Amino acid sequence: MVEVQVHDMCGIVGVCSKDPCRNVARSVYYALYALQHRGQESAGISIYDGKIVRTEKAMGLVSEIFDNARINKLTGPTGIGHVRYSTTGESTITNSQPLLVRYKDGVIAIAHNGNLVNAGKLKEELEAMGRVFHTTSDTEVIVHLFMKELLSQQEPAEAVRAIMRKMVGAYSVVVLIGDTIIGFRDPLGIKPLCIGKTDTEMIVASESVAIDTLNGELIGDVKPGEMVMIKNGEIRYHQITHHQCPAHCVFEYIYFARPDSILDGKLVYEARIKIGANLADEYPSEADTVTPVPDSGITFAIGYHQRSDIKYCECLMKNRYIGRTFIMPGQEMRETAVRLKMNTIRPNIEGNRIILVDDSIVRGTTSRRIVDMLWRAGAKEVHVRIGSPPIVAPCYMGINMATREELIAAYKTVAGVEAVIGADSLGHISHEGLVDAIGIPKERLCMGCLTGVYPLEIPGEKCHLAQAKITEYIRE
Ligand code: SF4
Repeated sequence: MVEVQVHDMCGIVGVCSKDPCRNVARSVYYALYALQHRGQESAGISIYDGKIVRTEKAMGLVSEIFDNARINKLTGPTGIGHVRYSTTGESTITNSQPLLVRYKDGVIAIAHNGNLVNAGKLKEELEAMGRVFHTTSDTEVIVHLFMKELLSQQEPAEAVRAIMRKMVGAYSVVVLIGDTIIGFRDPLGIKPLCIGKTDTEMIVASESVAIDTLNGELIGDVKPGEMVMIKNGEIRYHQITHHQCPAHCVFEYIYFARPDSILDGKLVYEARIKIGANLADEYPSEADTVTPVPDSGITFAIGYHQRSDIKYCECLMKNRYIGRTFIMPGQEMRETAVRLKMNTIRPNIEGNRIILVDDSIVRGTTSRRIVDMLWRAGAKEVHVRIGSPPIVAPCYMGINMATREELIAAYKTVAGVEAVIGADSLGHISHEGLVDAIGIPKERLCMGCLTGVYPLEIPGEKCHLAQAKITEYIRE
């Protein structure tokens, strides 16, 4: 997926030192660096120094925002951080996180990854109670809900318990409240959240790569519906809700998460290798070369190569310096734009039968351009293999994918898409092949965008879990 057509929406981290004299700002910063792939629009860090919360946040990449001077302004043993890609709300500094709210004598900071399906309804209720919203992000809905419950319940754990009963959707959240970090994950575990430790710190983060970066050890995942409270480097677990069938997002394994992350017990790299191998079994082809669309197709292509024994060879090179500021030119410059982003290695292509492997097809325009580049470079045959089943429906859980009208597989058959992208053949991994590769039963996965059937009730869409079941809570 060369054009960023599917946007994930955030990475979160919380770090709490066992030593009250230690400063965790740099740990939060390094962790955000490791989570940069989850959001490139803005980044922020909030640190509690024992008296006040200091926050630094801005638009841009972690490396652009934070220099030594800025990090040195943040001192204290407890902190959270956030990288953002907007899915709800505009891409503005007002919507950047952590979001801050005044409480008693201090400030609470909240960072969130996900999307609330019922954010609009909750916001209306809160506004009717006189709450004023300053951002267009649904994270502010969580902030107001939390504050409302905190004022009536007093205990942060009870406030989280109360708001998790009201929020419907996908969410992983970290809250910095005084010297405590609270992390919690939605009842279906759609968004990832894991816990780790170093000798001196406890960490809660969207992905285990953040823990690896801090030279830490992964303890495990925050379970669906679970809340963790970290204070003075000690962790306490509270199972707030229980659902017998979680619904982890399959696209974390296909595209969003870093391949070196372990999500819900599964190494993403292994899942992607297996997807490639299953693709080779399901859609074999006589060919000279297997090649990835860099970088998203690399691991799938290696898996395909290992299973098929067809030579792995790079045919496309990506320009890694095309940044967020790249201005898309007019129609007549499209070809140049594609060449700026990617170029062919002609001798590896000319006269060869090529298997081109990528992670997904959204609108089909990028795949068509890349296939065209291979033809122009002299390919004899081009066979496209895709590591996800066709995306036939939108995501309502916080992935800015596309509308149904924009999704090519929502209105065209595989043969139709094959014709549009100009390939000799097109093969997508099957649902069964994907589930087998991930190694989690399909009943425990969200595959809404691949099936059009969702784990949550969404107006006008099909749901495979009764909402009543989702709101059955067992207090442990
Ligand atoms: S609909 Fe698709 S992208 Fe959205 S959470 Fe489910 S699997 Fe992930």
